[in-house]
Amino acid sequence: MKLICAAMCFILVYVSFLTEAHSAIFKDSDLVRVRLKTLDGRIEISGQSLRFQNLENPFRPVAIPENTKAEVRLLEKSGKVFWALRVNGREQEHLFTNQFLLIQGEGLRIGAQALPERILLNHQKKSVDVVGVIPLEDYVVGVLASEMPLAWPLETLKAQAVAARSYARAVMEERKDKAYHLESSIMDQVFRHVLHEDENDPLIKKAVQAVRETQGQKLFAANHKVLKAFFHSDCGGTTTTAKNVWKSGVNTGTAIDSSCPLNPRAQWKLTLSKEELGRRLRVPNFLSLDLVHLGKERRVQAVRVAQADGINKNIPANEFRQLLGFQELRSSMFTLKDQGHSFVFEGQGYGHGVGLCQWGSRSLGKNGANYKNILKHYYPLARLK
Ligand SMILES: [Zn+2]
Repeated sequence: MKLICAAMCFILVYVSFLTEAHSAIFKDSDLVRVRLKTLDGRIEISGQSLRFQNLENPFRPVAIPENTKAEVRLLEKSGKVFWALRVNGREQEHLFTNQFLLIQGEGLRIGAQALPERILLNHQKKSVDVVGVIPLEDYVVGVLASEMPLAWPLETLKAQAVAARSYARAVMEERKDKAYHLESSIMDQVFRHVLHEDENDPLIKKAVQAVRETQGQKLFAANHKVLKAFFHSDCGGTTTTAKNVWKSGVNTGTAIDSSCPLNPRAQWKLTLSKEELGRRLRVPNFLSLDLVHLGKERRVQAVRVAQADGINKNIPANEFRQLLGFQELRSSMFTLKDQGHSFVFEGQGYGHGVGLCQWGSRSLGKNGANYKNILKHYYPLARLK
């Protein structure tokens, strides 16, 4: 067996029982697992003092002290999937079994993208998720630096920090058994890893200050659970409740937000040909659209899509936005005009409209509100603890 292994230039590693590495990463309630990107089966990573480790293995990790370029690829052998690791272009490959490969080191990078000091590779069928393992407070700094212009008032940043921390904590509980808790995109909260050296930048300093001055503070719903504190860019004048956008969601009360139309990009217009609409909605025999409103709610609740064969289907507004593109159909507060060959959508605001409105919170902060006032305004039924 040894001979065969040597001939194949492999070091085989066997999985036996759970180790501290696994329990530390999966049980530590202060560590957030964030999916940073998904790549095909081959990853090139660089950094210093790299350590590679199976998560569920008592095996001594592979440690490389000097500056390193490493290549990790998925390898299928006899129906089993392995991680094959090649360091600095050497011929020998180290093989690891297990769903996850833990990589630790300083200055980790994939291409130009800076990564946290600890990442987990998680293999899907043919692709690999790169998951950052990050202390919650550091994660909130990275969300703040991505979600909000840091020149905005400090109290506005503090309110955003509490909302982002609460959202993350609620989602971590919901998805505790999953490989990762959060997407680093608008599907959850936009996140980028902030390097220690960036902390000399006055704006990043301000983000760190906003997180430190609210350290550990979260919003709680009436049911005593941490509130999944949704937020959005611009409510267009009125926020809405989670139930109006998604099937589930805790009601936090709604806010009328007269400060929002100050946003120069509050009004928007989108024109799409009927052909293009049919393609994006995946309705080949697309005929027409109709808006469905709930009571006096200004937001569209659903869109009725009529097909040439006489079949109609109702698409919930949020799903309709996703199909057309969240960046293009900027909110569900819109009107519709049929122009024969095309439809014109004219609307206000940007985002789903639930919870904290970033543009409104900027205006409240400028007018002297503190972060507690801002949170009370957007989450009137929640308590801050
Ligand atoms: Zn607003």
